[in-house]
Order: sequence, then structure tokens, then C-alpha cells
Amino acid sequence: MIGAGQAGLQLALGLQHHGYQVTLVTDRTPEQVESGRVMSTQALFHDACETERQLNLNFWDELCPPVEGIAFSVPHPELPGHKAMSFEARLDHPAYSLDQRVKFAHWQRTFAERGGQVVTQHADVTAAERLSDTHDLVLVATGKGALGQIFERDAPRSPYDVPQRHLALAYLTGVRPRSGHSAVTFNLIPGVGEVFLLPGLTRTADGAWLPYENVLIEAIPGGPLDVFGDVQDAAEQVQRMLALMATFVPWEYDRVQDAQLTDAMATLIGRVTPQVRHPVATLPSGRPVLGLGDAVVVNDPLTGQGAGSAARAAAVYLERILWQGDRPFDRSWMQDTFEDYWGYAQYVTDWTNALLGPPPPHVLGVLDAAQRHPSLAHAFVNGFNHPPQFFPWLTSPQEAAALMARHGAPSPAAQA
Ligand SMILES: Cc1cc2nc3c(=O)[nH]c(=O)nc-3n(C[C@H](O)[C@H](O)[C@H](O)COP(=O)(O)OP(=O)(O)OC[C@H]3O[C@@H](n4cnc5c(N)ncnc54)[C@H](O)[C@@H]3O)c2cc1C
Repeated sequence: MIGAGQAGLQLALGLQHHGYQVTLVTDRTPEQVESGRVMSTQALFHDACETERQLNLNFWDELCPPVEGIAFSVPHPELPGHKAMSFEARLDHPAYSLDQRVKFAHWQRTFAERGGQVVTQHADVTAAERLSDTHDLVLVATGKGALGQIFERDAPRSPYDVPQRHLALAYLTGVRPRSGHSAVTFNLIPGVGEVFLLPGLTRTADGAWLPYENVLIEAIPGGPLDVFGDVQDAAEQVQRMLALMATFVPWEYDRVQDAQLTDAMATLIGRVTPQVRHPVATLPSGRPVLGLGDAVVVNDPLTGQGAGSAARAAAVYLERILWQGDRPFDRSWMQDTFEDYWGYAQYVTDWTNALLGPPPPHVLGVLDAAQRHPSLAHAFVNGFNHPPQFFPWLTSPQEAAALMARHGAPSPAAQA
């Protein structure tokens, strides 16, 4: 296994649990991960949490603040401080956001303590080749790292070839809790971008647990939120983030105005090109390797699905490896294994890519009706746990009308 993130570690630990000998190659020690930069807002919804629980990897369920719902808002374009649209609903089961620095470091140590072999190395194709000399299967789970480029881009499955958002992330303490239940607050500013807040848990350098709030700004490139390209340091980044929130989402600014960074590495600026890659690459020797997680399917973070999808991929691949028994992990097995995962991931990808563009009228109709029909709001919110639920209505005005009718909401056509 090359790569020790959500996908690589979860699958390596799963295989180890089932008695397989696994070599884990990672470019960072647990100490480097712990003291390194934050990577994600890492909201993990229930089904993804369950894949961890099945392997007893959920060490933090009792400690981590639950994310109990999702609150969706659209600021009013002409009335500053007012909302043009807003609804919220509870998740049937909480989501969790545990700082990946804490999780990955602990999982890596757990893997080693259980007898797994860890090689600390920045792996390249030559390293993959050496591993394939001595292992039955080589998986590449290097996330957005360069090694993933050995997998060719799958153009028909990849509508975008440049980032659709420029991202600014900060982990803040001293954020006032929202009233009511805890939630991901999802603020969609049409034509401008999105602002998200959600509770998480990190650990200080002296080992104390520290609840915090993830604050993520997703800027449409060139728009008014896209102001982070030249920031000099973390303090300046946070200052700019707060200023944008005061302007665009003042109800969130009220919560964060006295906040502090959790630690010196608690900010991130970045951009993600949404991309699907062919899952099987051929090494110079002619042997195949299989991609896993973000290395082969990476989406923009705006739907909060990447880590959950990586967990799902790890679970699907684990089942397929167990089922294969002593038979070879050949190219067609690799392709079938990925397609099994893609049966789920295609919905995550299509939904996330759709949200990157302006919502079509039938989607706006569903969101609008969700304000008045709590069962529709509940269905929408719980779709984050299982994105196939957004289909077929997301792409079909007729199905959107049928969905609304099922929740007692008159369709826009009927209202007209
Ligand atoms: C700003 C932001 C917010 C996000 N928010 C969410 C969210 O709320 N919910 C959610 O589900 N997802 C979210 N994601 C996405 C999520 O974090 C990723 O999709 C997920 O971590 C992918 O898991 P992975 O195992 O494929 O890759 P990663 O977790 O990135 O792990 C890859 C690992 O491989 C290692 N590596 C890389 N190259 C090499 C090499 N050559 N040799 C050895 N090791 C190597 C890296 O050090 C890393 O540890 C977010 C992402 C971003 C950027």
C-alpha cells in the first residue's frame, strides 16, 4: 500500500485484521503528520463512519463532537444580513470531523504496533516496481500526490480540467455554537462561492483534546471571495476570511469574530481539479497497479465527500480482496473492483460536479420547497450520507416534481 491517508490506512488496517501481510509505504512519519499542516475539514457521514467501526478503527466516537444536522442558507443578494433562502434538518445519525492529522498518525502507529511493516519513503514508479516484485498486489493511495499521475485521466468521467474553486481553510477555537443542534452550516452565495462551518476535534501539542470549528471558504475563481492568492501568513488569512464573512454571511461572522487558530499549522490554501482517472496503471515491467481513493477519484470538497468516499473505496476493495482468496489480482480483477466502487462514487462525482455550477431551476425549486416542507429538508440533508439519493431528481425536472409531490410540496408547474 503506497499512501497512508484515509483510504490507504483503512484498507491496510482492514487487510491486517484479516491476516494479510501488508507493507505500508508513506512519505511521512506519524510525528510529521501530527505536527504538519491541516489537510481537510474531513466531515465523515454515518455510512462512512460505519466502515471504520466494522474494523474497530473508531477510536474517537466518544470524544468527537457530533455534527447533528445541516443548515443551508443563501444570503439575500440585495438585503445585507438577510437570507434569501434557509432551511435545516437533523441527520438521522451524526457525522464527525476528527482532524486527519490525529487520525492518520494514530492509525499508522496502530498498524505498526499490530506488526505491520511501515516504510517511510516518498515512493515513485521505481519504488512501486520494487514492491510489485515481492507483493501479490500493489495499491496506490497517494491522494492528490504526484504518483497518482501514473493513472490516466478518464476524460468522459471528468467534465472539468481546471479547479472550479479556490479554497481557504482554518481551524478555529472560540467560535460561538449555533443555536439549536450542531450542524454543518452550508452558505451558498450564488455566483460567488460557498462558506462552510462545522465542528471538529483536534489535539494540542501537549496531548489535550481541543474541540474546534472548521471554517472553509470556497471561492469561484476571480470572484470576490478569491482573495487568498497572496496572503503572507496564517494571521492574514484568518483576517481576510473573517472580513469576507462579515460582508457575505454576517450571521456566521457573529459566531467567529473572537476566534483563534487552534495551532500554527491550522490553515490551508489550495485548489482541487475534480478528476476521475483510469484505475489501473502499467509499470515499466508490464505489471499492473491499482489506484484507490483520491488518487483515482478526486472531487471538489464542497459536498464534503472525499474522505467518506475514500472510506467507502477501502471497504469495497477489502471485500473484493477477501473474496478473491488465492486467485491472482490481475488487471480484470482490478478494473472490476474499481467499477464496483464507481457504482457508488459516480453519484458523488456527478452530484458534486453539478453543485459546482449554477443550480438549474428544478433544483432551486426543491431547495425552495425544503424551506416549507420539513420532510423534504430532511431528505435533502440526509442525502449527504448517501449521495445516490440525489438521483434521479437532480438531473430530471420531472423527477424533482415527483419528489416534491411525495413530500406534499406542489411543483412549480402546478403552482403556476
Ligand atoms: C479543504 C478540504 C476540505 C475537505 N473536506 C472534506 C470533508 O468535509 N469531508 C470529506 O469526506 N472529505 C473532505 N475533503 C477530502 C478528503 O480529505 C480527501 O478526499 C481524503 O482524505 C482522501 O483520502 P486518500 O486516502 O485518498 O488521500 P489522503 O488522505 O490525501 O492521503 C494520501 C496520503 O498519501 C501520502 N503520499 C502522497 N504521495 C506519496 C508518495 N509518493 N509516497 C508515499 N506516500 C505518499 C500523503 O502523505 C497522504 O498521507 C476535503 C479536502 C480538502 C482539500
